[in-house]
Amino acid sequence: MDEKTDALISGEQPRCPECGVLMRGNPAGYACPACGHHDVITDVENPGEGSGLLDFRRRR
Ligand SMILES: [Zn+2]
Repeated sequence: MDEKTDALISGEQPRCPECGVLMRGNPAGYACPACGHHDVITDVENPGEGSGLLDFRRRR
């Protein structure tokens, strides 16, 4: 069982911004079973510790 999938299932379930249907979590994000709207989830479990964010700040 994938940890991300497990966290999605036990966590909050977002609703589709298009039609309000409860979206289904998958390893890539959330997908609406009704209209096919898809949201990609960004990893927000460790804010401030992402090396990508630091790298982005250094560049600017
Ligand atoms: Zn939808």
